[in-house]
Amino acid sequence: MIQPVRKETQAPDHQEDLNPYHIAQQQFDWAARYLPKLEAGLGEFLKRPDRLVTVEFPIETEDHVVKNFVGYRAVHNRGRGPGKGGVRYHLDVTADEVRALASWMTWKCGVVDLPFGGAKGGVVCDPKTLTTSDLQKITRRFIVELGEAIGPHTDILAPDVNTNSETMAWIYDTYDMMHQGQNNLGVVTGKPLDLGGSLGRREATSRGCLFATQQALLQGVVPGLEQVEGATVVVQGFGNAGSIAAELFAEAGACIIGVSDSRGGIHLPKGLDPAVALEHKKRTGSVVDLPDTSNVSNEELLTLPCDILIPAALENQIRRDNAPLVRARFIAEAANGPTTPAADRILFEKGVPVLPDILANAGGVTVSYYEWVQNNKNEQWDLDEVNGKLQVKMTRGTEGVIEKQREINDSLDDLESQRKERDPSGDALAPVDLRTAAYVLAIERVSRVTLERGIWP
Ligand code: NAD
Repeated sequence: MIQPVRKETQAPDHQEDLNPYHIAQQQFDWAARYLPKLEAGLGEFLKRPDRLVTVEFPIETEDHVVKNFVGYRAVHNRGRGPGKGGVRYHLDVTADEVRALASWMTWKCGVVDLPFGGAKGGVVCDPKTLTTSDLQKITRRFIVELGEAIGPHTDILAPDVNTNSETMAWIYDTYDMMHQGQNNLGVVTGKPLDLGGSLGRREATSRGCLFATQQALLQGVVPGLEQVEGATVVVQGFGNAGSIAAELFAEAGACIIGVSDSRGGIHLPKGLDPAVALEHKKRTGSVVDLPDTSNVSNEELLTLPCDILIPAALENQIRRDNAPLVRARFIAEAANGPTTPAADRILFEKGVPVLPDILANAGGVTVSYYEWVQNNKNEQWDLDEVNGKLQVKMTRGTEGVIEKQREINDSLDDLESQRKERDPSGDALAPVDLRTAAYVLAIERVSRVTLERGIWP
């Protein structure tokens, strides 16, 4: 399918602003223009998080120093089910980042049709300077401070940047101590297997990204590139999402020609073995300096010629300044928010389709949902069952977004005349990219439920 071109003059008129919450709002506003039936007041409600809890607390570190930390937990929307979202430990965590990530969770659950709303949390800290014991204290105290703000049927936590199944076990244990005598397993997903975790959860984000990419290519989103097998792939970020994506794409027959982490990247045009890169990273702390590969900077890595670029690190990696230099034919966003709106516009004009985060990385929350269902029913599903269900969800989600893009672009004249009636002086509607289509699909689903439940009092 040929990607329609969005005219520069019809793009949102703003200087590039890298605040993730502002970006999430711009994305919503852009998509809302294609939803003539969305009432303005309802749109304003759906755009903003329902609540943000801020906590401040001390711990005594392993070397007997009292240190203070700030943590956040945002619930964006619970119309379709309990809030659901990861917990991030990073120095760059801010209230606005958490708000943005919570709203992307709402739209993600809407796109793949899961009965969850969106939430997210984080603690401002640098895990690299903290011991395991310090991280455990931070986690336990954070959960105690959140108190009744979280729960298996209100707001469910999960792993994100710099947190893992060990962190999830501490979260579960702390919450369970505070709520004894009931099944609390569902308060957090991504738990260790013997503590109610699900088979397949660790790989789910990356496996979901592979399934969505395969379906998008099959449906002709990239002319001349029909399959992952034989494609050249570059992965930015070599943590949970990125390293496993590299492994699974390689298993599916792709050639991984570049990977990176926070210290830099490596490049090998004939293809590198992700398992060897992971082993090297475990030994040395980074993928950099892997024998037989060339070191590249993180900036260079994003501009390597390849078929598929997978950003799997943090927000705002592909921006107005470097988007023109991207030489990938297709981008699959394993990370949340890696592409800014200005970069989206540039890539769209270049004909580089972007499989948006709210679809491409929805595999993580999908298997988190399966873990939650297993916890509530006291069941343990086989890996094949989990992966089979994940494939169905990701394939349907991808089909739904591509179909929505077609539907919108086929009815542009009609949508434009409705828009003109509402706002005669506004910019004309132009064909949409996959992100806008995914937003429209999700906003339709969440707004429908909101109206079915009724606005009250
Ligand atoms: P992680 O902490 O396991 O890994 C992050 C990786 O990114 C690390 O290798 C780090 O070194 C690297 N990195 C950081 N800054 C970088 C930079 N400037 N350039 C290159 N690499 C850099 O985190 P994760 O869980 O893999 O999450 C990564 C992204 O995927 C985040 O955006 C997260 O929100 C998203 N995500 C994760 C999950 C999940 O289940 N873990 C689910 C959905 C989305």
